[in-house]
Amino acid sequence: MDGTTDRSLLSVGLRCRCPRCGEGRLFDGFITLKPACEACGLDYGFADPADGPAFFIMMSMAFPVTAFGIWLELTYDPPLWIHAVLTLPLLLLACVPIIRPLKGLFIASQYINKAEEGRFAVRAVPKAGPEAGR
Ligand SMILES: [Zn+2]
Repeated sequence: MDGTTDRSLLSVGLRCRCPRCGEGRLFDGFITLKPACEACGLDYGFADPADGPAFFIMMSMAFPVTAFGIWLELTYDPPLWIHAVLTLPLLLLACVPIIRPLKGLFIASQYINKAEEGRFAVRAVPKAGPEAGR
């Protein structure tokens, strides 16, 4: 893969634009996927990032912030309202803003790498057992 493809993937993915034309928007609202590109007509039916973005957000943002909350609790034993005004908003600020660009990046990556569900290859299997070779 050359550098142009990487830059294009990041560019269209993080801007949440159509991976084919780079113009049409991917989402209708916050993270609801549009049925097709408004600019080039690309059917977004191929796009299925599933839990991918949620997994990466959980691993990169939610776990460290939760660890911070646990550390805060165990070290200072603060009243509950401290967590309500510090830990909870920190958790939301760390996770929510990156959902959309990360989902866009996953969808653009699916399109550019032609990712799809795995399928079993159908091929002829030679006969085995007592009747083999007759
Ligand atoms: Zn398009």
